Amino acid sequence: MLRRTRQRQAVQDVFAKAEGPLGPHEVVAAARNAASNLGIATVYRTIRELLNAGWLVSVATPNGTRFDLAAHQPHHYFYCSVCAKTFHVEGCVGSFDHLIPPGFVANEHQLTIIGTCGACALQGGGS
Ligand SMILES: [Zn+2]
Ligand SMILES: [Zn+2]
Repeated sequence: MLRRTRQRQAVQDVFAKAEGPLGPHEVVAAARNAASNLGIATVYRTIRELLNAGWLVSVATPNGTRFDLAAHQPHHYFYCSVCAKTFHVEGCVGSFDHLIPPGFVANEHQLTIIGTCGACALQGGGS
């Protein structure tokens, strides 16, 4: 069980330090950078556990489902269509209540802005 707890902690550390929501393969890559070795099966299993525990939420992005800390509010993101990374966006434009059809009840919203991140915009600037 000790090994399992350590793996779970490594996955939680990766999410806590990320600049946005991560997909399972991004978690594996980030853990490798932090000198932890996590297999993809372990990452999938741990993400499922953390989702069930309410510690993570899933985020739909243009190239697949990613996961973010439930505690990181608001759930607003910027997806770079060049490098396919997703970043946190702080702050909220306000209420979307006027967009909700009559009789519908909104509990929360997620928002993903799609474009080019700063690093990719710089690289593309010269060409
Ligand atoms: Zn980018
Ligand atoms: Zn908002």
